[in-house]
Amino acid sequence: QGGQAQREIPFSQPGNLTKVFAVASGKGGVGKSSVTVNLAIAMAKQGLRVGVLDADVYGHSVPAMLGVADSRPTQVDDLIMPVPTASGVSVISIGMLKPRRDQVVAWRGPMLDRALVQMLSDVFWGDLDVLLLDLPPGTGDVAISLGQHLPGAEVVVVTTPQEAAAEVAERAGTMASMMHQRVVGVVENMSYLPCPHCTPAGPDHADHRIEIFGSGGGDRVAATLGQRFGYDVPVLGRVPIDISLREGGDVGKPIVESDPTAPAALELTSIADQL
Ligand code: ADP
Repeated sequence: QGGQAQREIPFSQPGNLTKVFAVASGKGGVGKSSVTVNLAIAMAKQGLRVGVLDADVYGHSVPAMLGVADSRPTQVDDLIMPVPTASGVSVISIGMLKPRRDQVVAWRGPMLDRALVQMLSDVFWGDLDVLLLDLPPGTGDVAISLGQHLPGAEVVVVTTPQEAAAEVAERAGTMASMMHQRVVGVVENMSYLPCPHCTPAGPDHADHRIEIFGSGGGDRVAATLGQRFGYDVPVLGRVPIDISLREGGDVGKPIVESDPTAPAALELTSIADQL
């Protein structure tokens, strides 16, 4: 607090051209990290220079999903070099700041704030076109810190179709707006399971979708936030439940890379195109 000489955050400097997107959710387990890594890869495939900053204190699952679970950033003088991944994105995770992988990040607000600033300013990101931040779920310290340091970040809210998830997602979106960040859209994840018995879709069962988590969550969050903020908050896409999406994350090869023509991958790619 105060007094310490601190490097400036390049992304908040006037004239900085990097687009910063924070991916937020109300609760955990809705697929926020999966969406983040797949959007990152889809953008890298468009030829963009993409960085991912994993600030999810509870999950920090991004390195594993990108296949660099055991990698550590290297240090050059007082700069930290982000970890390169096979898919061409650079990544830094709050988990990489711990001495040991199995250690718990049990930090209070000021420590989290320092960690976030460090990942934004002491990491040599180079010239990025896009920086994606994977936020912890909810409206906690990291979201507040980010709002203070990067009010220009745009926020993507991830929810499932479920009522309970949508309600908390709205709060995460409202929080972003309180920090003067713009909510650019909502991703509804786990929207439906394409019926495996109707694939390829037969004439009687064309496009039969099993709505495991109900329906309407994405629309509800988008409508509520749009109304609250007075600007249009679109649903950017609806990502189906797909076993290969889960497997891709588990083995460090996200679906946009490993199975790019799967409907879930196409939907994620289309979301990336809109950002
Ligand atoms: P969060 O970051 O919100 O906690 P994760 O991205 O870690 O959520 O996802 C939680 C689990 O659900 C992971 O195992 C992930 O692979 C799986 N998952 C997420 N989205 C989907 C989907 N659309 N289809 C299948 N599995 C998914």
